[in-house]
Amino acid sequence: MKKILTVLGARPQFIKASVVSSEIARHPGLTEVVVHTGQHFDNNMSEIFFQELGMSPPMHQLDIHGGSHGEMTGRMLVEVERVIKTESPDVVLVYGDTNSTLAGTLAACKLHVPVAHVEAGLRSFNMRMPEEVNRILTDRVSDWLFTPTDSATRNLLGEGTKPERIIQVGDVMYDVALHHGARVMEEGGILARLNMMPKYYILATIHRAENTDDPQRLRNIINALSQIASELMPIVWPLHPRTRQTLRNEGLLDHLSKTVVLIDPVGYLDMVQLEKYAALVMTDSGGVQKEAFFHKVPCVTLRDETEWVELVEAGWNHLVSPYHISDLLRIVQKALQSRPEPVTPYGTGQAAAAIASALVG
Ligand code: UDP
Repeated sequence: MKKILTVLGARPQFIKASVVSSEIARHPGLTEVVVHTGQHFDNNMSEIFFQELGMSPPMHQLDIHGGSHGEMTGRMLVEVERVIKTESPDVVLVYGDTNSTLAGTLAACKLHVPVAHVEAGLRSFNMRMPEEVNRILTDRVSDWLFTPTDSATRNLLGEGTKPERIIQVGDVMYDVALHHGARVMEEGGILARLNMMPKYYILATIHRAENTDDPQRLRNIINALSQIASELMPIVWPLHPRTRQTLRNEGLLDHLSKTVVLIDPVGYLDMVQLEKYAALVMTDSGGVQKEAFFHKVPCVTLRDETEWVELVEAGWNHLVSPYHISDLLRIVQKALQSRPEPVTPYGTGQAAAAIASALVG
């Protein structure tokens, strides 16, 4: 029996793990222990996903959040190391690119426990992003590199990674979208609560540090969203706690709430409903860019670059730098009218099963 110790900490990791953990549970040769670092801790950023997506509560809760990147990662490193020593796993499983990912990886690696990385090989080629540093370091020392796309596999090969470490499985978020997203219908839910008309609103999410921590970029985004909401159609924006805090600190929250429908973060099923019935998605989230595509909704990404290049190439996603946002309205209108061709860059919805099979070895 192989023991997997999974380290989770942030919203998208809970969502991705929902399908992988259930595949691990189905395998007689695997057992799993989940550690929650505490990076995301509010009910609507954490617990709601465990409940909605049918996950068992984590066995270890580290309750570490806040502070600088170094402080948070350092505290996690100490505590995850302690858990690894107690649990003696055969493999440590990590997801994505957060501080929890890096802390889990480093703790395991220093104790000579093999690491498996889900969502390996993604690159923005922007080393100022904390996520880029986390993912490069994680990939460098992981034993199993589970890539979601051809471009992620190519990135790793281009960095000289040995092909036998790379297993292209597809995107686990596609598995989640097929498995849980299919439960979501038009009636009721958050659409009814907000009184939004299907296909006559834009869904926005903004939380990347490169946007929230740069006052000029944030101001540009807010001005653009306010203009679009006044001239085109309503905008619904579930505010990430960090973004809400920054908007409040910058004195922008009141101004924005006059034009845009600001709501607290929502659970996965409400989020899928908002995505599925939106006319357009505007985001800087990695996951939301892809979910827009899974639900056949065009997307405008407010960043300088994206890791999910295949959607830009296929015309589903339109990349706009928040530094050069003056023609955003034109791009939004273009995206609204776009009719891109179907493409299948994210596998067949069997990524979680492929990961569990590979871990059995
Ligand atoms: N999400 C959610 N509620 C929200 C906003 C996002 O459930 O209010 C989900 C979204 O559907 C996607 C994931 O969170 O599955 C994306 O996470 P996030 O944008 O925080 O991180 P990223 O994907 O950029 O790493």
